[in-house]
Amino acid sequence: MNLFWLYLNVRRLLSFQRYLHSSRFFHGIPANNPLGYILDDDFTGQAKLMLQKVGNWNFDIFLFDRLTNGNSLVNLTFHLFNTYGLIELFQLDMVKLRRFLVMIQEDYHCQNPYHNAVHAADVTQAMYCYLQEPKLAETLTSCDLLLGLLAAATHDLDHPGVNQPFLIKTDHYLAALYKNSSVLENHHWKSAVGLLRESDLLSHLPTEDRSERLGSLILATDISRQNDYLSEFRTHLDKGDLCLTNGGHRHFILQMALKCADICNPCRPWKLSKQWSEKVTEEFFHQGDIERKHNLEVTPLCDRQSNSVANIQIGFMAYVVEPLFVEWSRFSDTRLSQTMMSHLSLNKQGWNEGRDKQEASSSRASEEQRTPATKDSNSKVLPQGSKGS
Ligand SMILES: [Zn+2]
Repeated sequence: MNLFWLYLNVRRLLSFQRYLHSSRFFHGIPANNPLGYILDDDFTGQAKLMLQKVGNWNFDIFLFDRLTNGNSLVNLTFHLFNTYGLIELFQLDMVKLRRFLVMIQEDYHCQNPYHNAVHAADVTQAMYCYLQEPKLAETLTSCDLLLGLLAAATHDLDHPGVNQPFLIKTDHYLAALYKNSSVLENHHWKSAVGLLRESDLLSHLPTEDRSERLGSLILATDISRQNDYLSEFRTHLDKGDLCLTNGGHRHFILQMALKCADICNPCRPWKLSKQWSEKVTEEFFHQGDIERKHNLEVTPLCDRQSNSVANIQIGFMAYVVEPLFVEWSRFSDTRLSQTMMSHLSLNKQGWNEGRDKQEASSSRASEEQRTPATKDSNSKVLPQGSKGS
Protein backbone atom coordinates (compact mmCIF):
# COMPACT_ATOMS: atom_id res chain seq x y z
CA MET A 1 0.00 0.00 0.00
CA ASN A 2 1.37 3.39 -0.85
CA LEU A 3 1.42 6.57 1.20
CA PHE A 4 -1.31 8.12 -0.90
CA TRP A 5 -3.89 5.55 0.18
CA LEU A 6 -2.70 5.83 3.75
CA TYR A 7 -3.10 9.60 3.61
CA LEU A 8 -6.60 9.34 2.16
CA ASN A 9 -7.80 6.85 4.69
CA VAL A 10 -6.30 8.48 7.76
CA ARG A 11 -7.64 11.86 6.71
CA ARG A 12 -11.02 10.33 6.06
CA LEU A 13 -11.21 8.57 9.39
CA LEU A 14 -9.96 11.60 11.28
CA SER A 15 -12.37 13.92 9.55
CA PHE A 16 -15.26 11.84 10.81
CA GLN A 17 -13.69 11.28 14.22
CA ARG A 18 -14.20 7.59 13.80
CA TYR A 19 -12.42 4.79 15.49
CA LEU A 20 -9.44 3.71 13.48
CA HIS A 21 -11.09 0.55 12.31
CA SER A 22 -9.14 -1.81 10.11
CA SER A 23 -9.96 -0.59 6.64
CA ARG A 24 -9.93 -2.98 3.72
CA PHE A 25 -7.20 -0.76 2.37
CA PHE A 26 -4.98 -1.81 5.26
CA HIS A 27 -5.39 -5.44 4.33
CA GLY A 28 -2.93 -5.40 1.45
CA ILE A 29 -0.34 -8.08 0.83
CA PRO A 30 2.85 -7.29 2.79
CA ALA A 31 5.38 -5.38 0.70
CA ASN A 32 8.17 -7.83 1.47
CA ASN A 33 6.26 -10.72 -0.07
CA PRO A 34 7.34 -11.03 -3.71
CA LEU A 35 4.80 -13.78 -4.37
CA GLY A 36 2.16 -11.40 -3.10
CA TYR A 37 3.09 -8.90 -5.79
CA ILE A 38 2.92 -11.59 -8.48
CA LEU A 39 -0.54 -12.60 -7.28
CA ASP A 40 -1.56 -8.99 -6.94
CA ASP A 41 -0.48 -8.20 -10.53
CA ASP A 42 -2.21 -11.31 -11.75
CA PHE A 43 -5.42 -10.36 -9.98
CA THR A 44 -5.22 -6.78 -11.21
CA GLY A 45 -4.76 -8.13 -14.73
CA GLN A 46 -7.83 -10.31 -14.42
CA ALA A 47 -9.85 -7.43 -12.97
CA LYS A 48 -8.83 -5.27 -15.94
CA LEU A 49 -9.93 -8.01 -18.31
CA MET A 50 -13.28 -8.17 -16.55
CA LEU A 51 -13.74 -4.42 -16.95
CA GLN A 52 -13.54 -4.84 -20.71
CA LYS A 53 -16.84 -6.70 -20.40
CA VAL A 54 -18.45 -4.41 -17.84
CA GLY A 55 -21.52 -4.01 -20.05
CA ASN A 56 -22.33 -7.73 -19.98
CA TRP A 57 -25.43 -8.68 -18.04
CA ASN A 58 -23.71 -11.76 -16.60
CA PHE A 59 -20.87 -9.66 -15.13
CA ASP A 60 -19.86 -11.42 -11.91
CA ILE A 61 -19.51 -8.62 -9.37
CA PHE A 62 -18.57 -11.08 -6.60
CA LEU A 63 -15.57 -12.27 -8.61
CA PHE A 64 -14.66 -8.70 -9.53
CA ASP A 65 -14.79 -7.73 -5.86
CA ARG A 66 -12.41 -10.56 -4.97
CA LEU A 67 -10.05 -9.68 -7.82
CA THR A 68 -9.90 -6.06 -6.67
CA ASN A 69 -9.33 -7.01 -3.03
CA GLY A 70 -12.73 -5.69 -1.96
CA ASN A 71 -12.53 -2.48 -3.97
CA SER A 72 -15.15 -3.22 -6.62
CA LEU A 73 -17.11 0.00 -6.12
CA VAL A 74 -14.06 2.27 -6.44
CA ASN A 75 -12.61 0.48 -9.45
CA LEU A 76 -15.84 -0.05 -11.33
CA THR A 77 -17.17 3.49 -10.88
CA PHE A 78 -13.80 5.07 -11.74
CA HIS A 79 -13.65 2.94 -14.88
CA LEU A 80 -17.16 4.01 -15.93
CA PHE A 81 -16.39 7.70 -15.36
CA ASN A 82 -13.35 7.22 -17.54
CA THR A 83 -15.24 5.25 -20.21
CA TYR A 84 -17.80 8.04 -20.58
CA GLY A 85 -15.05 10.68 -20.67
CA LEU A 86 -16.65 12.40 -17.67
CA ILE A 87 -13.27 13.15 -16.10
CA GLU A 88 -12.11 15.29 -19.04
CA LEU A 89 -15.52 16.72 -19.80
CA PHE A 90 -16.20 17.96 -16.26
CA GLN A 91 -12.52 18.67 -15.58
CA LEU A 92 -12.60 16.36 -12.59
CA ASP A 93 -9.49 16.12 -10.45
CA MET A 94 -8.56 12.42 -10.58
CA VAL A 95 -7.15 12.48 -7.03
CA LYS A 96 -10.37 14.01 -5.71
CA LEU A 97 -12.44 11.52 -7.69
CA ARG A 98 -10.51 8.53 -6.29
CA ARG A 99 -10.75 10.00 -2.82
CA PHE A 100 -14.50 10.53 -3.17
CA LEU A 101 -15.02 6.96 -4.37
CA VAL A 102 -12.93 5.57 -1.52
CA MET A 103 -15.02 7.58 0.94
CA ILE A 104 -18.23 6.22 -0.59
CA GLN A 105 -16.99 2.66 -0.46
CA GLU A 106 -15.87 3.03 3.14
CA ASP A 107 -19.23 4.52 4.15
CA TYR A 108 -21.02 1.31 3.20
CA HIS A 109 -21.09 -1.16 6.08
CA CYS A 110 -19.02 -4.18 5.10
CA GLN A 111 -20.63 -6.21 7.90
CA ASN A 112 -24.06 -5.94 6.23
CA PRO A 113 -24.64 -9.19 4.34
CA TYR A 114 -26.52 -7.38 1.57
CA HIS A 115 -26.56 -3.59 1.81
CA ASN A 116 -22.82 -3.14 1.40
CA ALA A 117 -20.44 -1.70 -1.19
CA VAL A 118 -20.68 -4.81 -3.40
CA HIS A 119 -24.44 -4.24 -3.76
CA ALA A 120 -23.70 -0.61 -4.67
CA ALA A 121 -21.15 -1.78 -7.25
CA ASP A 122 -23.65 -4.28 -8.64
CA VAL A 123 -26.34 -1.60 -8.95
CA THR A 124 -23.83 0.73 -10.64
CA GLN A 125 -22.93 -2.00 -13.14
CA ALA A 126 -26.63 -2.67 -13.86
CA MET A 127 -27.23 1.05 -14.22
CA TYR A 128 -24.43 1.19 -16.79
CA CYS A 129 -26.13 -1.62 -18.75
CA TYR A 130 -29.36 0.40 -18.80
CA LEU A 131 -27.59 3.65 -19.72
CA GLN A 132 -26.20 1.78 -22.72
CA GLU A 133 -29.66 0.81 -23.95
CA PRO A 134 -30.30 2.53 -27.33
CA LYS A 135 -33.15 4.80 -26.21
CA LEU A 136 -31.07 6.14 -23.34
CA ALA A 137 -27.65 6.14 -25.00
CA GLU A 138 -28.98 8.25 -27.86
CA THR A 139 -30.56 10.90 -25.68
CA LEU A 140 -28.89 11.17 -22.27
CA THR A 141 -26.61 14.12 -21.69
CA SER A 142 -23.24 13.91 -19.92
CA CYS A 143 -24.92 15.50 -16.90
CA ASP A 144 -27.51 12.71 -16.89
CA LEU A 145 -24.77 10.08 -17.09
CA LEU A 146 -22.79 11.70 -14.27
CA LEU A 147 -25.84 11.89 -12.01
CA GLY A 148 -27.05 8.41 -12.95
CA LEU A 149 -23.73 6.84 -12.01
CA LEU A 150 -23.36 8.95 -8.86
CA ALA A 151 -26.87 8.03 -7.72
CA ALA A 152 -26.27 4.32 -8.35
CA ALA A 153 -22.98 4.31 -6.43
CA THR A 154 -24.39 6.23 -3.44
CA HIS A 155 -28.02 5.05 -3.37
CA ASP A 156 -27.65 2.98 -0.14
CA LEU A 157 -24.84 4.93 1.50
CA ASP A 158 -24.38 4.23 5.23
CA HIS A 159 -27.25 1.71 5.20
CA PRO A 160 -27.63 0.36 8.74
CA GLY A 161 -28.74 -3.13 7.64
CA VAL A 162 -32.27 -2.75 9.03
CA ASN A 163 -35.41 -1.35 7.39
CA GLN A 164 -37.44 1.80 7.96
CA PRO A 165 -40.14 0.22 10.18
CA PHE A 166 -37.35 -1.02 12.46
CA LEU A 167 -35.88 2.50 12.73
CA ILE A 168 -39.34 3.90 13.51
CA LYS A 169 -40.24 1.36 16.18
CA THR A 170 -36.86 1.73 17.89
CA ASP A 171 -37.14 5.55 17.90
CA HIS A 172 -33.95 5.90 15.87
CA TYR A 173 -32.88 9.54 15.45
CA LEU A 174 -32.98 9.18 11.64
CA ALA A 175 -36.70 8.33 11.78
CA ALA A 176 -37.34 11.52 13.75
CA LEU A 177 -35.04 13.57 11.49
CA TYR A 178 -36.88 12.53 8.33
CA LYS A 179 -40.35 12.37 9.91
CA ASN A 180 -40.78 8.63 9.27
CA SER A 181 -40.84 9.20 5.53
CA SER A 182 -38.29 7.63 3.13
CA VAL A 183 -36.00 7.66 6.17
CA LEU A 184 -33.22 5.53 4.71
CA GLU A 185 -33.31 7.06 1.24
CA ASN A 186 -33.16 10.59 2.66
CA HIS A 187 -30.19 9.54 4.75
CA HIS A 188 -28.41 7.97 1.75
CA TRP A 189 -28.96 11.15 -0.23
CA LYS A 190 -27.81 13.52 2.50
CA SER A 191 -24.76 11.33 3.16
CA ALA A 192 -23.91 11.43 -0.55
CA VAL A 193 -24.21 15.23 -0.62
CA GLY A 194 -22.00 15.43 2.48
CA LEU A 195 -19.28 13.32 0.84
CA LEU A 196 -19.49 15.32 -2.38
CA ARG A 197 -18.91 18.45 -0.36
CA GLU A 198 -16.12 16.93 1.71
CA SER A 199 -14.31 15.63 -1.35
CA ASP A 200 -14.64 18.96 -3.17
CA LEU A 201 -15.12 16.93 -6.36
CA LEU A 202 -17.72 19.09 -8.11
CA SER A 203 -17.16 22.44 -6.38
CA HIS A 204 -15.77 24.00 -9.58
CA LEU A 205 -19.00 23.26 -11.47
CA PRO A 206 -22.17 25.36 -11.37
CA THR A 207 -24.42 24.07 -8.58
CA GLU A 208 -27.73 24.28 -10.49
CA ASP A 209 -30.10 21.63 -9.18
CA ARG A 210 -27.52 18.84 -8.89
CA SER A 211 -28.19 17.99 -5.28
CA GLU A 212 -31.97 17.93 -5.79
CA ARG A 213 -31.70 15.75 -8.88
CA LEU A 214 -29.38 13.35 -7.08
CA GLY A 215 -31.87 13.25 -4.21
CA SER A 216 -34.80 12.66 -6.48
CA LEU A 217 -33.02 9.68 -8.08
CA ILE A 218 -32.06 8.13 -4.75
CA LEU A 219 -35.52 8.74 -3.24
CA ALA A 220 -37.04 6.83 -6.19
CA THR A 221 -35.45 3.64 -4.81
CA ASP A 222 -37.89 3.70 -1.85
CA ILE A 223 -39.71 0.45 -2.55
CA SER A 224 -42.76 1.56 -0.56
CA ARG A 225 -43.39 4.20 -3.25
CA GLN A 226 -43.03 1.78 -6.15
CA ASN A 227 -46.72 1.91 -7.11
CA ASP A 228 -46.61 5.69 -7.59
CA TYR A 229 -43.69 5.40 -10.00
CA LEU A 230 -45.17 2.38 -11.75
CA SER A 231 -48.53 3.97 -12.41
CA GLU A 232 -46.85 7.10 -13.80
CA PHE A 233 -44.66 4.89 -16.00
CA ARG A 234 -47.70 2.90 -17.22
CA THR A 235 -49.61 6.07 -18.02
CA HIS A 236 -46.71 7.40 -20.10
CA LEU A 237 -46.32 4.09 -21.92
CA ASP A 238 -50.05 3.80 -22.60
CA LYS A 239 -50.14 7.31 -24.02
CA GLY A 240 -46.79 6.85 -25.78
CA ASP A 241 -45.87 10.39 -24.75
CA LEU A 242 -42.36 9.89 -23.36
CA CYS A 243 -40.09 12.27 -25.18
CA LEU A 244 -36.48 11.93 -24.16
CA THR A 245 -35.46 15.29 -25.54
CA ASN A 246 -37.49 16.62 -22.61
CA GLY A 247 -35.26 16.95 -19.52
CA GLY A 248 -38.07 16.04 -17.12
CA HIS A 249 -38.85 12.85 -19.03
CA ARG A 250 -35.17 11.88 -19.18
CA HIS A 251 -34.94 12.35 -15.43
CA PHE A 252 -38.00 10.16 -14.92
CA ILE A 253 -36.44 7.41 -17.06
CA LEU A 254 -33.24 7.68 -15.02
CA GLN A 255 -35.37 7.19 -11.89
CA MET A 256 -36.98 4.09 -13.42
CA ALA A 257 -33.58 2.79 -14.56
CA LEU A 258 -32.15 3.17 -11.06
CA LYS A 259 -35.20 1.45 -9.56
CA CYS A 260 -34.67 -1.46 -11.95
CA ALA A 261 -30.93 -1.57 -11.24
CA ASP A 262 -31.62 -1.66 -7.49
CA ILE A 263 -33.90 -4.69 -7.61
CA CYS A 264 -32.51 -6.50 -10.66
CA ASN A 265 -31.03 -9.43 -8.66
CA PRO A 266 -33.85 -11.83 -9.68
CA CYS A 267 -33.17 -10.94 -13.34
CA ARG A 268 -29.53 -12.02 -13.18
CA PRO A 269 -28.32 -15.53 -14.06
CA TRP A 270 -29.26 -18.04 -11.34
CA LYS A 271 -25.68 -18.42 -10.06
CA LEU A 272 -25.51 -14.70 -9.20
CA SER A 273 -29.16 -14.23 -8.37
CA LYS A 274 -29.16 -17.05 -5.80
CA GLN A 275 -26.22 -15.55 -3.95
CA TRP A 276 -27.99 -12.19 -3.67
CA SER A 277 -31.18 -13.86 -2.47
CA GLU A 278 -29.30 -15.64 0.28
CA LYS A 279 -27.51 -12.48 1.33
CA VAL A 280 -30.63 -10.33 1.53
CA THR A 281 -32.44 -13.03 3.51
CA GLU A 282 -29.52 -13.27 5.91
CA GLU A 283 -29.82 -9.52 6.52
CA PHE A 284 -33.61 -9.76 7.01
CA PHE A 285 -33.27 -12.66 9.43
CA HIS A 286 -30.59 -10.81 11.35
CA GLN A 287 -33.06 -7.98 11.88
CA GLY A 288 -35.67 -10.53 13.01
CA ASP A 289 -33.18 -11.95 15.52
CA ILE A 290 -32.60 -8.49 17.00
CA GLU A 291 -36.36 -7.90 17.19
CA ARG A 292 -36.88 -11.22 18.99
CA LYS A 293 -34.00 -10.57 21.37
CA HIS A 294 -35.45 -7.20 22.37
CA ASN A 295 -39.04 -8.44 22.61
CA LEU A 296 -40.14 -6.37 19.66
CA GLU A 297 -42.74 -7.67 17.25
CA VAL A 298 -40.85 -9.78 14.69
CA THR A 299 -41.40 -8.51 11.15
CA PRO A 300 -42.89 -11.49 9.21
CA LEU A 301 -40.39 -10.97 6.36
CA CYS A 302 -37.54 -11.17 8.89
CA ASP A 303 -38.74 -14.20 10.83
CA ARG A 304 -36.41 -17.15 10.26
CA GLN A 305 -38.84 -19.41 12.15
CA SER A 306 -41.69 -18.91 9.73
CA ASN A 307 -40.09 -17.75 6.49
CA SER A 308 -37.57 -19.03 3.96
CA VAL A 309 -35.36 -17.70 1.16
CA ALA A 310 -37.60 -19.34 -1.44
CA ASN A 311 -40.81 -17.86 0.01
CA ILE A 312 -39.36 -14.39 0.26
CA GLN A 313 -38.03 -14.52 -3.28
CA ILE A 314 -41.24 -15.88 -4.81
CA GLY A 315 -43.26 -13.05 -3.21
CA PHE A 316 -40.68 -10.40 -4.09
CA MET A 317 -40.53 -11.51 -7.72
CA ALA A 318 -44.30 -11.69 -8.16
CA TYR A 319 -45.30 -8.45 -6.44
CA VAL A 320 -42.32 -6.14 -6.86
CA VAL A 321 -39.83 -7.22 -9.53
CA GLU A 322 -42.03 -8.61 -12.28
CA PRO A 323 -44.48 -5.67 -12.47
CA LEU A 324 -41.56 -3.24 -12.76
CA PHE A 325 -39.62 -5.19 -15.36
CA VAL A 326 -42.73 -5.86 -17.46
CA GLU A 327 -43.12 -2.08 -17.85
CA TRP A 328 -39.39 -1.53 -18.36
CA SER A 329 -39.49 -4.12 -21.17
CA ARG A 330 -42.38 -2.25 -22.77
CA PHE A 331 -40.28 0.90 -22.69
CA SER A 332 -37.02 -0.70 -23.76
CA ASP A 333 -37.84 -3.77 -25.82
CA THR A 334 -34.30 -4.98 -26.39
CA ARG A 335 -32.23 -8.14 -26.13
CA LEU A 336 -31.20 -7.13 -22.60
CA SER A 337 -34.84 -6.84 -21.52
CA GLN A 338 -35.62 -10.23 -23.03
CA THR A 339 -32.59 -11.73 -21.26
CA MET A 340 -33.68 -10.25 -17.93
CA MET A 341 -37.27 -11.51 -18.30
CA SER A 342 -36.02 -14.94 -19.22
CA HIS A 343 -33.73 -15.11 -16.15
CA LEU A 344 -36.61 -13.87 -14.00
CA SER A 345 -38.82 -16.67 -15.23
CA LEU A 346 -36.12 -19.33 -14.78
CA ASN A 347 -35.22 -18.07 -11.31
CA LYS A 348 -38.88 -18.08 -10.29
CA GLN A 349 -39.07 -21.67 -11.45
CA GLY A 350 -35.88 -22.45 -9.50
CA TRP A 351 -37.25 -21.06 -6.23
CA ASN A 352 -40.65 -22.73 -6.76
CA GLU A 353 -38.96 -26.09 -7.27
CA GLY A 354 -36.79 -25.44 -4.23
CA ARG A 355 -39.84 -24.63 -2.13
CA ASP A 356 -41.72 -27.72 -3.37
CA LYS A 357 -38.75 -29.93 -2.51
CA GLN A 358 -38.41 -28.31 0.90
CA GLU A 359 -42.12 -28.77 1.63
CA ALA A 360 -42.00 -32.38 0.44
CA SER A 361 -38.98 -33.15 2.61
CA SER A 362 -40.44 -31.45 5.70
CA SER A 363 -43.76 -33.29 5.27
CA ARG A 364 -41.76 -36.55 4.89
CA ALA A 365 -39.83 -35.67 8.05
CA SER A 366 -43.01 -35.02 10.04
CA GLU A 367 -44.51 -38.21 8.61
CA GLU A 368 -41.44 -40.13 9.78
CA GLN A 369 -41.79 -38.55 13.20
CA ARG A 370 -45.39 -39.70 13.42
CA THR A 371 -44.80 -43.19 12.07
CA PRO A 372 -42.51 -44.55 14.83
CA ALA A 373 -44.90 -43.13 17.41
CA THR A 374 -47.78 -45.20 15.92
CA LYS A 375 -45.66 -48.32 15.82
CA ASP A 376 -44.31 -47.71 19.25
CA SER A 377 -47.75 -47.29 20.79
CA ASN A 378 -47.92 -51.08 21.07
CA SER A 379 -44.24 -51.54 21.65
CA LYS A 380 -43.07 -53.24 24.77
CA VAL A 381 -39.92 -51.14 24.66
CA LEU A 382 -41.84 -48.03 25.62
CA PRO A 383 -42.76 -48.02 29.28
CA GLN A 384 -46.52 -47.85 29.69
CA GLY A 385 -47.84 -44.45 30.49
CA SER A 386 -44.78 -42.70 29.17
CA LYS A 387 -46.97 -40.67 26.79
CA GLY A 388 -49.99 -38.62 27.49
CA SER A 389 -51.76 -39.46 30.75
ZN1 LIG B 1 -30.03 -0.82 -2.97
